[in-house]
Amino acid sequence: MENVTLVCGAGGFIGGHLVADLQKSGLRVRGVDRKPLNQWHQISGGAESLQLDLSEKDACYDATRGVTEVFNLAADMGGMGFIETHKAECMLSVLINTHMLMAVRDLGVERLFFSSSACVYAADKQLTTENPGLRESDAYPAMPEDGYGWEKLFSERMCRNFSEDYGIATRVARYHNVYGPWGTYDGGREKAPAAICRKVIAAKLSGDHSIEIWGDGQQTRSFMYVDDCVFGSRKLMASEVAEPINIGSSELVTINQLVDIVEKIAGIRTVRRYNLDAPLGVRGRNSDNTFIVDQLGWQPSISLEQGIMQTYAWIYDEMSSSSNWSSRVG
Ligand code: NAD
Repeated sequence: MENVTLVCGAGGFIGGHLVADLQKSGLRVRGVDRKPLNQWHQISGGAESLQLDLSEKDACYDATRGVTEVFNLAADMGGMGFIETHKAECMLSVLINTHMLMAVRDLGVERLFFSSSACVYAADKQLTTENPGLRESDAYPAMPEDGYGWEKLFSERMCRNFSEDYGIATRVARYHNVYGPWGTYDGGREKAPAAICRKVIAAKLSGDHSIEIWGDGQQTRSFMYVDDCVFGSRKLMASEVAEPINIGSSELVTINQLVDIVEKIAGIRTVRRYNLDAPLGVRGRNSDNTFIVDQLGWQPSISLEQGIMQTYAWIYDEMSSSSNWSSRVG
């Protein structure tokens, strides 16, 4: 029988790109998501697309039957505005990972990829804006992001324990902020790059050039374009790297510098109102790529300016073709 690759969370942002990319390589793909198909970010013709709630054990077994590899990207997540206010929901994603690992063990699947996050890193290593880059060992002693980060760290651990006790090959990527076309840009789950594109586009379309920035704009992050994320995930899956590994850009910027890039692409300058009471997360975060370069001979390389250009163009088209774009300002 032909090999089937399962993508959990296929109706989401990264999952949608991953399904499309796997299909382009000629693989047989089954995509699964909890959302109805008409709410998926992308649907690739030719891929099998199923609506299942993978927090349910039976659904994980149904999704996994006949599969050789699993990319598990399903999780209840969003940007800071979401994860700081939905901690219990984020923790419940542990059911997805638990039941998927059990299904993979019982149905003899060869490999499972788990999308972890830079939110597993200990808070005390991210107190200043000059973050030299988080090394994989910086996740311990553990003090991850409350809720979302603890769930990811626990699930990473469970991958390791299933691997040690049952011989399952698991691959664990710690993604650092991913952005790109087909990503969420409004509604409360959006992350900084998409939110800033949306705000600048709304300013341009409305003529009111004033935008709100969360925090003082000096906080630092790195942002990875989705094509790098998909390429790195597939490269990791095909490798023999069993330990968690950063997949993130090491191009550190302040939020103000990110806004500068978006404004340059938009061709406008905005008046920035800083909201110091907004959810902020850590002060500074970057990806140290020593380990990935050593293990995979590769690291994300698409520049922020290149990636934002694609993302801005996509959000601009979405907003300007939507009759109610003005309701998306905020
Ligand atoms: P996303 O929210 O767009 O996609 C996740 C998908 O999982 C959603 O479509 C959601 O409906 C689905 N899902 C949630 N619960 C489910 C369930 N019980 N059963 C089936 N499907 C369910 O998020 P994304 O940005 O595509 O992220 C994909 C993965 O990468 C997630 O695990 C996320 O935690 C991780 N990650 C993402 C980023 C980022 O910047 N986007 C950073 C670090 C880690």
